[in-house]
Order: sequence, then structure tokens, then C-alpha cells
Amino acid sequence: MNILDSVAALRAQMTTWRQAGERIAFVPTMGNLHDGHFKLVDIAHQHADRVICSIFVNPMQFGKNEDLDKYPRTLDADIAGLTAHQADALFTPTPAIMYPRGLEVQSYVEVPLLGDLHCGASRAGHFRGVSTVVSKLFNLVQPDVACFGQKDYQQLAIIRQMVTDLSFPIEIIGVPTERAADGLALSSRNGYLSAEQRQQAPALYQILQQVKAAIVAGQHDYRALEQQAKAELTAAGFRPDYFNISHQQTLTLAQNANEPKVILAAAALGNTRLIDNLEV
Ligand code: AMP
Repeated sequence: MNILDSVAALRAQMTTWRQAGERIAFVPTMGNLHDGHFKLVDIAHQHADRVICSIFVNPMQFGKNEDLDKYPRTLDADIAGLTAHQADALFTPTPAIMYPRGLEVQSYVEVPLLGDLHCGASRAGHFRGVSTVVSKLFNLVQPDVACFGQKDYQQLAIIRQMVTDLSFPIEIIGVPTERAADGLALSSRNGYLSAEQRQQAPALYQILQQVKAAIVAGQHDYRALEQQAKAELTAAGFRPDYFNISHQQTLTLAQNANEPKVILAAAALGNTRLIDNLEV
């Protein structure tokens, strides 16, 4: 696997592949890679001749009191994992490469409406940081296709909207969430959990499944189901942030039985914020 730590090296590699007529798939990540990320790499191979990943802990998407400094950085293990999954190249820019003039004066991309809901309401500026860095990475890599996890459901919806609105000629592939045997969605932030919290954590997915079963069984007082789920999360040791039964495309609160639905949830265990979701 070629490790590319400058824009010049990245552009040279992409030009070589493109001139050979090869189709390029891109998997952007923040590193500390787990089987969820590797699944994206495996799926990316199905859509292209070459797979390039990036590892960049993007300061623009972290709030002031969030975990930017302590976010896990495990480059050697990540390189070993990506090599085992036959990734062809890894782009590892620094903040100075991505934001040479500094974050305060950086131009940005913002997706309205979708970006204001759910995580966007609790994490001011988060999705602006995500859509800006993904735009920059898309312009640097210029892939044919890019893979994103459904685990970050709202993020995937925002990227799809951005690609449509800004006419990026890139196909976006959504990849189903990879979970531990007990149902917990794999996440780099799971490493923050104490042994006791790790035992409690699968309750988030269990409650999502219960609410899905209630909706499928015909319950349609969605706001009451949301309130009940939050109470159950609290009883299971979480501090719920949101638990919203939403429309799959607009992500606004579901109102009637005919809409395609997704249940979106965020809740904290101690200092660790977990998110998960389930389509109905
Ligand atoms: P991150 O490194 O957390 O920014 O995630 C990089 C990419 O991996 C994003 O597209 C995530 O949605 C995706 N991802 C993270 N966790 C999972 C998972 N458990 N299953 C599938 N995709 C995931």
C-alpha cells in the first residue's frame, strides 16, 4: 500500500491510475480503524479497480469541548489493517495541509435543513466541518465512487445531498453498520467505555429494535414511543441526547404510517457519546 503524505504525492498517484483507465474508490476515515471501516474497504473493492483511504482527524468537525485531542490515533495498526484488506493507497494529510490558512478563515460547505437536525442540533458546526472536509477530499482525490457507513446515517444523507447540490461526479455507496456480537455498533469511540459501560452499551441497539418492533406492530404515536425510549435509555444508564423516529430522506420527524422511517438515536454513557440508528 502506498502511503501518501502530501498533496503532490496524492495527485501523482491518482493521475497514474486515471491514465491507466482505472476506476477509483475512496474511503475517508478518521483512523483507529475497526471492522466497520474495513467493511467499507471490502465493498469499495467491489466498485473499483483501486481503493484509496484517507485518515484525517478533522479538527473542523469537533466542537470546543469535544474529544479532538484524545481521539485515538493508531496509525501503525491502521496501516496493517488496510494492507490486509488490500487497500492500494492511504492519504494521511496533516491539519496544515488541509487548512493552511487556519480554520478561522477557511471557506466552508454547509448543507441546509438536513445539517440542522439531530446531531446537527446538539453539535454546532459539526456537519459544516464534515461537508467541508469531504468536499476538499473529493477535490483532492477525485474518485469515481466513495463509500460511507450507514452507522452515521445523517452524515450519509448530508453527503448525498451535497454531492447532488454541488454536482460532484461521484457515486456514493452506503454500507450497512458493522456490529459487535452483542449488537453494539462498532465505533472508534467505543474504546472510551469502561468495562461496566461496555456491558450497558448494547441497550441502545436493543431499544432501537424494540421501538422498530412496536412501529411494525402498528403503533403510530411516534412521539410517545420516542419519550418511552428515552426513559428506557435513562433507566439503562444513558443520558439520551435525542431519539427520533424520522423520515428516511428528509430526516424530519415521521408523522404517518406510510412514510419510510428510520429511528435515529444519540445517547451518552459517562463522557462517551454513542449514536446508532435502525431503518423501519
Ligand atoms: P470515522 O472514522 O468514524 O469518521 O468513520 C469513517 C467511515 O466509516 C464513515 O463513513 C463511517 O460511517 C464508517 N463507519 C464507522 N463505523 C462503522 C460501522 N460500525 N459500520 C460501518 N461503517 C462504519
